[in-house]
Amino acid sequence: MNIDDLLQSLGLAPATLHDGTLIARSPIDGAPLARVREHTPDEAAAAIARAHAAFLTWRTLPAPRRGELVRLFGEELRAHKAALGRLVSIEAGKIAAEGAGEVQEMIDICDFAVGLSRQLYGLTIASERPGHRMMETWHPLGVVGVISAFNFPVAVWSWNAALALVCGDAVVWKPSEKTPLTALACQALFARAAARFGDAPAGLSELLIGARAIGEVLVDDPRVALVSATGSTRMGREVGPRVAARFGRSLLELGGNNAIIVAPSADLDLAVRGILFGAIGTAGQRCTTTRRLIVHEAVADELVARLQRAYASARIGHPLEAGTLVGPLIDAAAFDAMQAALASARADGGRVFGGERVLHERFPDAHYVTPALVEMPAQTPGVCHETFAPILYVLRYRDFDAAIELQNDVPQGLSSALFTTDLREAERFVSATGSDCGIANVNIGTSGAEIGGAFGGEKETGGGRESGSDAWRAYMRRATNTINYSRELPLAQGISFGD
Ligand code: NAD
Repeated sequence: MNIDDLLQSLGLAPATLHDGTLIARSPIDGAPLARVREHTPDEAAAAIARAHAAFLTWRTLPAPRRGELVRLFGEELRAHKAALGRLVSIEAGKIAAEGAGEVQEMIDICDFAVGLSRQLYGLTIASERPGHRMMETWHPLGVVGVISAFNFPVAVWSWNAALALVCGDAVVWKPSEKTPLTALACQALFARAAARFGDAPAGLSELLIGARAIGEVLVDDPRVALVSATGSTRMGREVGPRVAARFGRSLLELGGNNAIIVAPSADLDLAVRGILFGAIGTAGQRCTTTRRLIVHEAVADELVARLQRAYASARIGHPLEAGTLVGPLIDAAAFDAMQAALASARADGGRVFGGERVLHERFPDAHYVTPALVEMPAQTPGVCHETFAPILYVLRYRDFDAAIELQNDVPQGLSSALFTTDLREAERFVSATGSDCGIANVNIGTSGAEIGGAFGGEKETGGGRESGSDAWRAYMRRATNTINYSRELPLAQGISFGD
C-alpha cells in the first residue's frame, strides 16, 4: 500500500497534505512523505479558545457518558490498528511489532479510561465539628495542553487525552514536528468517534501542527490549565518555569538514563533478553531505553561476551521487513549526536564495540547504525548524559551498595532494573534506600511499561506521572467541602469568636 492509500484508509485526504510548509519525512529512507500545513500563533490561540468553550460544555456531561466517547475512540483504534501502526513505523521508524504495540497501548489506555469514568471518586473525611460533614470532590480542570515527542508519536497523546476526556477536560495537542502525519491520523479517527457519539462539543480535541513556537503558545496561554509535556530535559527546563510563572500546572515527562544492574546470582538468560530489548529496541530511542549496564565483576566477562554475540546477530534494516529488530535513527542529527558520544567515550578510555553507520548504500538519506556496547572505566560525564541512540555503557561493580550508588548517581530518574535471584538484593532495590527512579523493576528490563501503573520519573525526568494508578488526579481539580447540618456554628480549633 502506498502512503497516500494508507493515509486515506485512516480518514485523511492526501490532496490536503501536499501544499504545506512542514515536510514530513520517513526516517526509513529520508524521503518526503507529505507537506503539511503549519498553524500560525493566531490559529493556535483560536484553537485554545475553541477548546476552552468545549470544556465549559463537556464538564457538565456525566463522567460515564464522557467515557462512552473514549470507548468509541478505542473501537476506531481497534479497527485501524494495523494501518495506524504501519504509519507509526513509516513516520517514526519503529519496527512493525513496535508500531502495532504503540497502537495497542492506545487501545489499552482507552479501556482503562472507560473504567475510570465510573471511578473518579473522592473521600468523606471525619470532621472535628459536631453536625458537620467534610468531603473531598474532584472536578474537571480545564484545557489540557499536550506536547509530545517524536519517539512515541501517538501513545503519549492518548495516555493524556483518554484520561483528560473522561475527567471532563478538553485537549489541545502539539505533536512533534517530526511526526505530524500520525497526529493528523489520530485526530481523524477521533473525529469519527465524536461523530458516532453525537453530542461532543466542537473543539474538544484540537491539534496544532508546528515546531517549538506553536508549543510556546500553549505554554503561555492562561486558558491552558495543565501543560503535559513529553520530551527532552532541555525542553522541560524551558516549559516548566514558563508554566509556573503564570501559576499553571505542568506534568513533565523528560529524559531518562536508565540502568540495569546484573548481580552474580542473576539468571543470565533472562538478563541477556531483557538487556537486548531495552538497549537496542526502537534503536535506543525510548525514554526508558537501557543506557547503562552495571554488572558484577564475577559475571561481567560472560555477560559482555553473550551480549556481543546477541548484538552481532540482531538484524538491522527496514523496520517493516520481517526479522528486523533495529530500525533507523530518526535523523542525521541523532546520528551525529551518537558519533560525538562515542568519540567522547573513547577519549575517556572506553572500549567501543559497534556504533558504525550501515546500509548507507541502500538508504543514502537515512541513518542506520549497529548498536554500540561501550565498556567504560568509570561513570564519566558522557555516561551521565542521555544520548538518544543505541549506546549501552558497561560498568563493573564489586559491592551491591556501590552498584546502587552508581545507578542513582546520574541527573535523571526514570527507569531502572535489577536482575538477581537474591531476595535481599531484590527487596533492597525497591526499598527507600534502593533505586531512586520512578520505575524500579526486578528481573525484567527498563522499557516496555504497562499502562496500569503510573509512568514517570524523578529528578531531571521531571516528576510527572501519567497513565495508570491514580495519575488521573493530575487532570482534575480537588475541592474540600464542609457541610454544616446542625443549628450551631462551631469554629474549628475550638475558637470562640465574640460569643
Ligand atoms: P524534544 O524535547 O526535542 O521535543 C519534544 C516536543 O517539545 C516537540 O513537540 C517540540 O516541538 C516541543 N518543544 C521543544 N521545545 C519547546 C519549547 N520551548 N516550548 C514548547 N514546546 C517545545 O524531544 P524529542 O527529540 O522529540 O524526543 C526525545 C526526548 O523525549 C528524549 O529526551 C526522551 O527521553 C524524551 N521522552 C521522554 C518520555 C517520558 O515519558 N519521560 C517519553 C518519550 C520521550
